Amino acid sequence: MSALDQTTRTAPSSAEDRTPVRPGRPAALRSPKILDLHLDRLAVVYIRQSDPQQVLNHRESRERQYALADHVVALGWPRERVLVIDEDQGLSGRSADGRGGFQRLLAEVTVEHVGLILGIGMSRIARNNRDWHNLLEMCVVFGTVLADEDGVYDPQDSNDRLLLGLKGTISEFELVTMRNRLERGWSHKARRGELFHHVPLGYVKLSPDRVALDPDEQVRDVIRLVFDKYDEIGSAWGVFHYLVRNNIRLGIRPFHGPNRSNLEWRRPTMVSVRQILVHPMYAGAYAFGRRPHERVRTDAGKRTRPGKWVPMERWKVLKHDCLPAYITWERYLANQERMREHGWGPGSKGNPRNGPALLAGIIVCGECGRRLKTDYRSNEKAYYRCARHLYVGGEQTCFGFRAGPVDALVAEQVLRALEPAALELSCRALEDARRERARLDRHWRQRLERARYEAEYAERRHRAVDPENRLVAPSLERRWEEALQAERQVRDDYDRFLRE
Ligand SMILES: [Zn+2]
Repeated sequence: MSALDQTTRTAPSSAEDRTPVRPGRPAALRSPKILDLHLDRLAVVYIRQSDPQQVLNHRESRERQYALADHVVALGWPRERVLVIDEDQGLSGRSADGRGGFQRLLAEVTVEHVGLILGIGMSRIARNNRDWHNLLEMCVVFGTVLADEDGVYDPQDSNDRLLLGLKGTISEFELVTMRNRLERGWSHKARRGELFHHVPLGYVKLSPDRVALDPDEQVRDVIRLVFDKYDEIGSAWGVFHYLVRNNIRLGIRPFHGPNRSNLEWRRPTMVSVRQILVHPMYAGAYAFGRRPHERVRTDAGKRTRPGKWVPMERWKVLKHDCLPAYITWERYLANQERMREHGWGPGSKGNPRNGPALLAGIIVCGECGRRLKTDYRSNEKAYYRCARHLYVGGEQTCFGFRAGPVDALVAEQVLRALEPAALELSCRALEDARRERARLDRHWRQRLERARYEAEYAERRHRAVDPENRLVAPSLERRWEEALQAERQVRDDYDRFLRE
């Protein structure tokens, strides 16, 4: 059957006088609202899924969206005149900000390139009334029609425009309802202490609402080491340096990516060390709302983002003794107190600073109570100086003094105070060093054991495969070589540690 036959057979008679159908174009689904001037322009199919998870999981919906291109062909456009805009995969339709595809769509409309815009339900195009009406306005001015799976709408027609306006409103309302339902669900779960987005390192998520200690012994040992070292050194920065100096890595299970939830050994960062020290989960407590989201205004309306960390008394949920712990709650509180004292805030004890002056960073002005600044005109000539007048904009009432005599006095007092306990202290220091050494040795042996296991595993896999299988055997052999080399490297490092 030729296309022309089909036209005469199926095209609605009322439409025929409005839309002279061109030969060669199927008109089975042709709507009277689609005119030749539309057919001469592009048809745009707009495709979007709200978040990357949907792009992966909702294949059905995604494929349905791509099938829209066929729908456009049925409406009368040749396939090569169908433009699919799918740059906005994984972006929410809440606002046009950052949605390059939506901006491109608007731009194409305003240069009169677009005859028809098609999307699954109008909700996919915009979930924000302002963006939606903006698009409608443009479509009126430049004579573009819109379509979804239910029909074709001409925004120049007042009835269609009313319908499109309603669809936009409903779509925005749907988004608000969905978000509210989601947030209520989350807060219910959180109140029961069962909402876990991510767990900190040293823990694994068994199911969406159950958490356990990491099954790997070495991972747990490193976490305990961080806490013990903090007790000893007293600063997160110090712990971080200790870990880096001794080449101790943190066992991390990534949340995303191809290696998701598989153990990886990574160099520690200051952020990860701090996180271990401040996270209440290590003390067995469940907390929610440590960093509440805040609504911010942007050009395109409102959106939420993670706000500031809030103090413990403002956390929404805090339940004690409900999770497996590394330290006690008392120890956790003591650590927080110690961290606060090391800050620069009022009432804190301050942090000793580097430099030849003994009291840099901890000496306080006797006149006004501010922490004194340390100036060095040379290494021998250090000065402690009060800078109050610079901050409050007043007359200089407190002054500084030379560091030398004060440092000497303080050093003498400290040594005198320590004298009676000197022998005991040096014995204890020796004992500490021995224990420390044993601990590091244990860490090295764990690493060596792991490397040995990896090498043996690679060897077994290599032996299990038929050597004639040329596709697989070489790569397995290479992996075995690499594992052996890694083991040799760890063994060398361990030897070096033993000789030190
Ligand atoms: Zn002062």
